[in-house]
Amino acid sequence: MAKYLIIGGVAGGATAAARLRRIDEKAEIIMFERGEHISYANCGLPYYIGGVIKEREKLLLQTPESFNKRLNVDVRVCNEVISIHPEDNKVSIKDLKTGKTYQETYDKLIVSPGAEPVKPPIEGFDLPEVFTLRNVNDTDKIKNFCDQKQPKRATVIGAGFIGLEMAENFHHIGLEVNIVEKACQVMTPVDFEIAAGVHQHIKEQNVGLYLSESVTKLEKVSSGIKVHLESGNSFETDVVILSVGVRPETSLIKDANLAIAPNGGIQVNDYLQTSNPDVYAVGDAIAFIHPITGQYCNTYLAGPANLQGRIVADNIVKGNKRKYKGALATAIAKVFDLTVASVGLNETQLKKNGIGYKANIIHGGSHAGYYPGAINLTLKLLFSPEDGKVLGAQAIGYDGIDKRIDMIASIMLKGGDIYDLQEIEQSYAPPYSSAKDPVNQAGFAAENIIEKKVNTIDWRELSNLDTSSVFLLDVRTKDEFSLGAIPNSINIDVDDLRNHINNIPKDKKIIIFCGVGLRGYIAARILMQNGFNDVYNLSGGLKIYQQATAVQSHIICNEDSSSQVTEIQTPTQKEHQMSNKEVKVIEVDACGLQCPGPILKLKQEVEKLDTGDRIKQIATDAGFKKDVQSWCNLTGNKLISLDAQKGVISALIEKGQSKEDCPVNGNVQLPKDKTLVVFSDDMDKALASFVIANGAAATGRKVTMFFTFWGLNTIKKRKKPRVKKDFMGFMFGKMMAAHSGKLNLSKMNMMGMGSIMMKKRMKAKNVDSLETLIQAAMDNGVEMMACQMSMDVMGVDASELLDGVKIGGVASYMEAADTANHNLFI
Ligand code: FAD
Repeated sequence: MAKYLIIGGVAGGATAAARLRRIDEKAEIIMFERGEHISYANCGLPYYIGGVIKEREKLLLQTPESFNKRLNVDVRVCNEVISIHPEDNKVSIKDLKTGKTYQETYDKLIVSPGAEPVKPPIEGFDLPEVFTLRNVNDTDKIKNFCDQKQPKRATVIGAGFIGLEMAENFHHIGLEVNIVEKACQVMTPVDFEIAAGVHQHIKEQNVGLYLSESVTKLEKVSSGIKVHLESGNSFETDVVILSVGVRPETSLIKDANLAIAPNGGIQVNDYLQTSNPDVYAVGDAIAFIHPITGQYCNTYLAGPANLQGRIVADNIVKGNKRKYKGALATAIAKVFDLTVASVGLNETQLKKNGIGYKANIIHGGSHAGYYPGAINLTLKLLFSPEDGKVLGAQAIGYDGIDKRIDMIASIMLKGGDIYDLQEIEQSYAPPYSSAKDPVNQAGFAAENIIEKKVNTIDWRELSNLDTSSVFLLDVRTKDEFSLGAIPNSINIDVDDLRNHINNIPKDKKIIIFCGVGLRGYIAARILMQNGFNDVYNLSGGLKIYQQATAVQSHIICNEDSSSQVTEIQTPTQKEHQMSNKEVKVIEVDACGLQCPGPILKLKQEVEKLDTGDRIKQIATDAGFKKDVQSWCNLTGNKLISLDAQKGVISALIEKGQSKEDCPVNGNVQLPKDKTLVVFSDDMDKALASFVIANGAAATGRKVTMFFTFWGLNTIKKRKKPRVKKDFMGFMFGKMMAAHSGKLNLSKMNMMGMGSIMMKKRMKAKNVDSLETLIQAAMDNGVEMMACQMSMDVMGVDASELLDGVKIGGVASYMEAADTANHNLFI
């Protein structure tokens, strides 16, 4: 009769024990567990603390008694294996209740001791209010602390999966929560721009987020615990969770002189055997060969631990027949309403391993956009540029994230490529997916990149670029452009692009962007098939760019937190308040529509209403949250409330009077900005406009100068690039003033003599030249905007204008004019 010993009685150990018994009824099996519990649900522990899982018993999947009764396994809890003697096939055990030590022999030993939380040697980390979370005992301690001491404020140090789950659960039981993370992002398995979505979501929960920040000390003070940060900041808290990472428990193996892999885990071969053939190891403690990198790696996940337990049992009983193929670290986490998942390698890991890759980001729907409840999700794919092999994927959204990452993981585990993703035949009906699922789409988009149908640029490359040196083309609609764009971009609607092809320089790198990347791709194809060679589409569109370039941290605790919390009323609360009044409210569902769909829909619906009527619109496009605020400001409609729940943005808008009809009310904050329309290119008029602009800017007002028709000549560069123009554009260029130095006086110009005399006189009187005034205006933050329509008419190319000049339509000017109380036409 064979005798098997198992160290560790949870995921890997208990699975191995159960499988051993199922395939070897006769064997003697002893499972040692240091703690009091076996086979419990570690993954459920945070949710029990947060009261989501209500009954503690539900966490305990088996008791020593039930396990023994069902499987005839001798379960010895509170028994710690203190050493392994591989040369004698023996282990020494300490009974933690009696303190006695004893030995057991084995034919085969399975080691599954897991991983322990890292506790850096930092002052205050040993305070009784500081906890780590690994097992049921830790959970009981935290839960008892919360029940007895009723903390109001919690701090989570370390923003990995467990840290974020704890932050969410503390928030769920009503604590004010702060998260401190040393890295510049949460959840290191995903790349920054995906994590940025989590950062923004954490902010929306009004949870504090300190990124690129570390705790230097925890100090007990009369009102709680003071958390000191490296930056010098500090705040107070009542309870702390330390979740800065885990490390494999390897001391037993090291002491037994068995091999440890370079990355610190227990080294195992394909059969999960350690360097001693009678000793097998599984779970968080082991290091196995990664299927893509070929290097040793760890994974701290329940699925691989369970699978390894089963494989080891089979190999022990049937001989080494089944190889472990490794794990791709397929992982998922719920962070408040959001779901984030990943598989395989991220960009940082690919770079570290010297693996060439391409990346693309697509935005799709959780299911068909026309079926109610569709919510957008973002999917990032990493693949080999040579053969299309899938190297990794990350997804973020509110629904259907698990399904997409699992689909990709199963392809990756078979060594599949992007063509396999295209061919996945998924079950489809509108409530569940789209005929072209986002995973299929990601495969198609990747093929376009490999086949060089499109070049992509990512948000980081673009944000590091001097955008004035490229032609940055925004192919969204004018309405979208007026709601905000990347500085220095020029707006040509994709549907109008073919009509403006001659306005686009062929000698410049062209970077195209749209809301999410799709229209950008179409625009890139139009240009590439019209002889433009240096064309790039912004991966993931403006949505990813804005998400990744936004402020990421959310520092709330150094100030009076009550003043920080802006109470956003939900539409339902607001409706309740006004239920006594007879107000017409119409409901509009714009879920599933991608930008600009929700705003266009809103515009159409508002047009049908009377002043004072309200519209309650729901949308799932994340950009709608910002756009609706800008749109209301721009159009004179009133945003009554704005709320986001589980990816559904709900806005209540009241149709406003057109701004001219608004009665002046003593309580109304009057607009104070200044706008100038510069129509003329007379030198004296240009001088006057810049003098006024600089003066207004000096009083702290926002100043916008809108240059139209001849006014464009004042903001032309002295040294302009060669631009190919049509005949009329060429003729206009010849006839008009080439730059500010060539302007004439409106009166007494005398064939140019007048302007020369004026310049001399200004110099003598110490009056700044027009060029100095223009530069001063730029330095003072005066916004200079060139009229797109006039540029088209006069044949002026964006590259001919001074750096920093924005190109805009009348809508952009009107938005500025709306907040201005002076509007000069020169
Ligand atoms: P463990 O399950 O940790 O078991 C090891 C056991 O060995 C421990 O009980 C320990 O007491 C015992 N032991 C150690 N040394 C000795 C010794 N010398 N003698 C006797 N006994 C010993 N994974 C996911 O995939 N998804 C999740 O959502 C998820 N959530 C998690 C949430 C929390 C709070 C935690 C702590 C983990 C979570 N995990 C999750 C990770 C997952 O639980 C682990 O990957 C998995 O449990 C590893 O199994 P294991 O057998 O290697 O180690």
